[in-house]
Amino acid sequence: QYVMEVSNIAGHHLSEVVSISTTSLPSDDPFCRICHEGSSNEELLSPCECNGSLKLVHGSCLEHWLSASNTSHCELCHFEFALERLPKPLSEWLKHPGMHHARLTLFGDLICFMFITPLASLSGWLCVQGARDLYYSSSMEAIGLSILTLALLTIYGFWTIVSFRYHILLFRKWRQTNQEVRLLIPTSVTLLTNQQHTTCKISSSREPSKETIV
Ligand SMILES: [Zn+2]
Ligand SMILES: [Zn+2]
Repeated sequence: QYVMEVSNIAGHHLSEVVSISTTSLPSDDPFCRICHEGSSNEELLSPCECNGSLKLVHGSCLEHWLSASNTSHCELCHFEFALERLPKPLSEWLKHPGMHHARLTLFGDLICFMFITPLASLSGWLCVQGARDLYYSSSMEAIGLSILTLALLTIYGFWTIVSFRYHILLFRKWRQTNQEVRLLIPTSVTLLTNQQHTTCKISSSREPSKETIV
């Protein structure tokens, strides 16, 4: 009786597993490997050497992924795509919502630059004038003022270069990962995939599909 109960429970569990696995399996309709949508809104392409359920993809999904990842090859089969990359202009960066923090720091640094530049110039000029006046009367003070001028200008120059480099690097990084990517796919590829879809549908209607989804 105990064995019977176990087998009953096991059988019950197994039937549950079978029902779950059959319901979780997607239909035979081809779908995009990135967004998992079908070909109702956009034609599915097979632009690389991937096979099985991973071979089909929407052109727009692939272009978006290639732009965001800044690559030009398939991550699975390493097929090199023929691409056209169009960098976005500075005006797009100014409107991009994800770059809000970078824009704030840039404007903050620009305001600092506008204030510090005249202040540094005036201080430098005063130090040079003072050093010139003290050159004959007190040479030690003149040397001290000259060193102060040099230190002031060095700090000002260093800050300017570092902050400008930082903002230029941020902008370049944004431009690299926000390019408009266009796939250059020959028309024969799309025709080929359409033919494969129809033959696949015919064969699947005749016999149950044995393809496993990875
Ligand atoms: Zn898609
Ligand atoms: Zn591939």
